[in-house]
Amino acid sequence: MTDANAPSFPEIRDSVKKLCAGFPGEYWRAHDRERKYPTEFVATLTREGFLSVLIPEEFGGSGLELGAATAVLEEIHRSGCNGAACHAQMYTMGTILRHGSPEQKQRYLPKIASGELRLQAFGVTEPTSGTDTTRIATFAKRQGDKFIVNGQKIWISRAEHSDLMVLLVRTTPREAVKKPTDGMSVLLVDMKASLGKGLTIRPIRTMLNHATTELFFDDLEVPAENLIGEADKGFRYILDGMNAERILIASECIGDGRFFIDRATAYAKERSVFGRPIGENQGVQFPIARAYVQITAAAEMVNKAAQMFDTGVPCGSEANMAKLLASEAAWFAADMCVQTHGGFGFAEEFDIERKFRETRLYQVAPISTNLILSHVATHVLGLPKSF
Ligand SMILES: Cc1cc2nc3c(=O)[nH]c(=O)nc-3n(C[C@H](O)[C@H](O)[C@H](O)COP(=O)(O)OP(=O)(O)OC[C@H]3O[C@@H](n4cnc5c(N)ncnc54)[C@H](O)[C@@H]3O)c2cc1C
Repeated sequence: MTDANAPSFPEIRDSVKKLCAGFPGEYWRAHDRERKYPTEFVATLTREGFLSVLIPEEFGGSGLELGAATAVLEEIHRSGCNGAACHAQMYTMGTILRHGSPEQKQRYLPKIASGELRLQAFGVTEPTSGTDTTRIATFAKRQGDKFIVNGQKIWISRAEHSDLMVLLVRTTPREAVKKPTDGMSVLLVDMKASLGKGLTIRPIRTMLNHATTELFFDDLEVPAENLIGEADKGFRYILDGMNAERILIASECIGDGRFFIDRATAYAKERSVFGRPIGENQGVQFPIARAYVQITAAAEMVNKAAQMFDTGVPCGSEANMAKLLASEAAWFAADMCVQTHGGFGFAEEFDIERKFRETRLYQVAPISTNLILSHVATHVLGLPKSF
């Protein structure tokens, strides 16, 4: 009989756990303090093939489904590591895989699979448009066999650690198209060739170690052959990538939640106050149990969304709901874990305050909770649109 509660992909999980054991808390603390990119961790994951699980075998990857990628990221996070340094290498290539030309696939995918090319920057957000993506102002003007790009992006993570970037630009002004989602295009930008020649990258220091940046485009030339799919139809191309991103980030939240529950449970058993383990008090037990219930339920939603994605069923709402539930469950678990540890929850050496900061991000990025609720209210429940 199979155990319905047994974790999926046990062998992948075991291998990831072993790999992560080589990157203990000290490693992450040192990098967090300096806001340094975890190069060795990313190189090891790349070498072991974990970042190319979604690339088909014909292009050098392992051709596994999204469910396998969720197992990888969940275990990374459960182990106390942070997949945010490289998770985009797994899914950003999906835009090329699904919408690129045969030449683009042949040219880029094998090198992305081997790690020779890092495609882990995804440039959408802009300072003035915020979440209202149809108002992006970065514009690419076609001039012969190239595009000339001008504009600005913000919060573009890993731009300094990427060879390529998938960039969303306007190619037709919003006022000149019927639907606001029309008129946008996707360009593949060669970061090394562009740096200092129209592209400036400025790092932004944040409350967590996330290698995020601000980008400035000043007459940057991008070869026209780097256009992915058709011009003006780019918004559609990035949408299915966004579903994969939301499901994968939800799996990181599940891993974070399990990290907090593991740590809190162990500490509550071992810490003795008033002559008994603090875990004997229901005031301490119940929040741990509640966190477990919430993470277990959220994990079911993540699995469901991943299965829908893998079978090609439209899963926009499920991907959003999985991300909302997982990010909130992880945040509840984070708060619970600090409380369970008392003063030690604030001590750097316990790694809880670091994880607490890291997991907070996911209620804002890659999409904020309010925008998910708005999607569910209007697209699923048919309530009137407020904007
Ligand atoms: C560390 C970090 C890394 C990131 N990495 C990337 C990246 O690699 N690539 C990329 O393109 N972007 C990235 N982002 C951007 C991220 O996706 C956005 O920050 C996020 O989508 C929210 O957009 P915003 O910051 O513009 O908030 P805004 O759109 O300005 O919204 C601010 C607040 O108002 C709320 N709000 C806005 N409009 C409404 C409304 N109509 N109804 C109710 N509430 C509303 C939002 O929910 C939010 O809480 C990153 C952000 C961070 C912080």
